[in-house]
Amino acid sequence: MSTVTCSLRFEDLHAHADFVSLRDVKGIVIDLRYAGNNNFVGRSLYGDHDYAWLHRDAARGLRNAVSYLQMHQPALRFLVLDALRPHRVQKMMWDALSGSPLQRYFADPAKGSIHSFGMALDLSLIDDAGQEIDMGTGFDSFAAESHPEYEAEFMRQGKLTAQHISHRSILRSALFHAGFQGIQSEWWHFNFGDPEDIRKTHARID
Ligand SMILES: [Zn+2]
Repeated sequence: MSTVTCSLRFEDLHAHADFVSLRDVKGIVIDLRYAGNNNFVGRSLYGDHDYAWLHRDAARGLRNAVSYLQMHQPALRFLVLDALRPHRVQKMMWDALSGSPLQRYFADPAKGSIHSFGMALDLSLIDDAGQEIDMGTGFDSFAAESHPEYEAEFMRQGKLTAQHISHRSILRSALFHAGFQGIQSEWWHFNFGDPEDIRKTHARID
């Protein structure tokens, strides 16, 4: 049973003051992986839609993170890999992973992904030359090395380097400074606020 209190159609967001397009945010590079073939499903899940959108609160957080990054790491920029992911897409992903152990990495649509509220971001870093920074694992790599909770242990085992951890720390510092929170299982995922609160207080995008 869904606990969602209210929902909006993505098609109606353009006219909604609470949501903003990330195309208007300066200082970031956008490469939505589910809009192309470079993702775990191997095909586009986004069709003709441009889902580079966020709730305005999370977008404000992103702008603050951009300012912080520019000040502390002027040679680096954020690479936005996913942002607002409508509930309809979350359901497609969930179904695509049905019966797979990978399904644990995705929020059960019945509960609601924070991406579907426009309050979560997946992102990495790129350098001046447009080269992605090495984080030790790729976006949506389901290896345990992607889990921030195991970083110290994997560094001891030589499976992650001090440089990988340093790169992840740069990403986290900027996002945490701007009010985002990380999660234990994905170095690239950040929520803007407490997930349970967001599910109770925000509209889900369907
Ligand atoms: Zn995510």
